[in-house]
Amino acid sequence: MHILLSSLETGISMRYTSTRNSGVSVAASEAICAGISADGGLFVPESLPWLSYNQIKTMTKADYVSRCAEIVGAFADDFTHADIMSCVSKVYTREKFETDSITPIYELCDGMYMLELWHGPTCAFKDLALQLLPRLLTMSSQKLGRGRTSVILVATSGDTGKAALEGFRDVPGTKIIVFYPENGVSSMQKLQMVTQQGDNVDVCAIKGNFDDAQAGVKAAFTDKNLISRLADGNMEFSSANSINWGRLLPQIVYYISAYCDLLRNDRISCGEHINIVVPTGNFGNILAAYYAKKMGVPVGKLICASNSNNVLTDFINTGVYDRNRTFSTTISPSMDILVSSNLERLLYDLSGCDDARVKEYMDELARTGRYQVDEAIKTGIDESFWAGWCDDEGTRAAIRDIYENYSYVCDPHTAVAVNVYRQYMEKTGDTAKTLIASTASPFKFAGDVLEAIDGEKPAGDEQRYIDLLVSKAMTPAPRQITRLFDMPERFSASCEKDAMPEYILGALGLR
Ligand SMILES: *Cc1c(COP(=O)(O)O)cnc(C)c1O
Repeated sequence: MHILLSSLETGISMRYTSTRNSGVSVAASEAICAGISADGGLFVPESLPWLSYNQIKTMTKADYVSRCAEIVGAFADDFTHADIMSCVSKVYTREKFETDSITPIYELCDGMYMLELWHGPTCAFKDLALQLLPRLLTMSSQKLGRGRTSVILVATSGDTGKAALEGFRDVPGTKIIVFYPENGVSSMQKLQMVTQQGDNVDVCAIKGNFDDAQAGVKAAFTDKNLISRLADGNMEFSSANSINWGRLLPQIVYYISAYCDLLRNDRISCGEHINIVVPTGNFGNILAAYYAKKMGVPVGKLICASNSNNVLTDFINTGVYDRNRTFSTTISPSMDILVSSNLERLLYDLSGCDDARVKEYMDELARTGRYQVDEAIKTGIDESFWAGWCDDEGTRAAIRDIYENYSYVCDPHTAVAVNVYRQYMEKTGDTAKTLIASTASPFKFAGDVLEAIDGEKPAGDEQRYIDLLVSKAMTPAPRQITRLFDMPERFSASCEKDAMPEYILGALGLR
């Protein structure tokens, strides 16, 4: 049973503009279908729905699906509540997320809460968005009368590819092809992808690194010959990229929902401010928390946690974004990133919607790899954000510490957040209740987690790591992971990067 809530009152209809051209104004369906604005900017809502205390209180009584439908509905008012409900209720199910609360909260100790975002099909938080996006995309495409099959191309360094495959698997009107670097993903990530099920999916290894895969996908999107061959087959390319508004929107939902859950369980009182710590890479997840704050959720500080690729820490602390630095490979690989695309949306907001200024910064970034924001933007950043980072040693220490003190096992990405939160408390003395975004299941990184706890990596293979971690965590391993070991390998193809167009045509039956 879903409780229907009265519609959020936005007053005006929801339109989206571009961070690089405020003259753009499109409906949600258009923003989601296009993915990126023609001027190269990102789509942002022209206004945000406001949640009053009463609405938050009412939402507290509802389940995840109803909360989500309400919030998504307010941002996508070109769809009916029934349409949105039908999408959302197929996605956030016990079957897919193995828990009724979808994003359960684990109370680590007094005032410190783990928001577990990894109970979905691929055990990483990206599922929350990538399960809903395909449905939002096909609904949008139908609304706009496109009528063509959407072909999703993804280049992945691991987590995104699998989450996209699971999200698009057997979604009518879509096909998905994922390319991964042959020697550039972990054995668990590879296993997850090559055993992927579904009739509309394809996976191929690239002889090269992630950049080769990414460059190949980018080239395919603008390859005129390929585009016309697809059109002949009534197909078109579409993107599940993390800059698509349809990926950000579902992430706003869980922060609002988490506040409701803390309220419902009497952990906070209505109106009490909480801090939120987010292990950050592309700045998508923490930006969603920023939007939740702007919508009225009482949030004190948003704490941005980075690994050794600490470009965001420096930016938040100094106002200078400088990607000219050495790229580090870490044990929290999904945060190994030097250009955080979603930051552009924050700049747009904090500059008071100054599209020319944002374009200037982004051009500068492309030209020199560096830009410095003005005083007003810096002040805005200081009001909402705090930033810190830790290296792999600090990450391992946090995993060990959390395990020894609370018998809780967390993954390396989440551990970065824990480490940085400790630094925050030490430096500021702020003891407000705090939500830590826990972004992956420790079982996805079992080898590194065991090494952190025991001081050395155990002998054996992935399956043995999982067994060892089960006995440490005293919880069963997620079925999404254990069942992979019994599944047949479906995809063994690999190709040179220059052969990607041919591979795509073959996979689509167009050759
Ligand atoms: C993608 C990812 C992140 C980083 O999230 P962003 O939205 O890119 O900042 C953190 N942790 C895990 C496990 C991830 O997969």
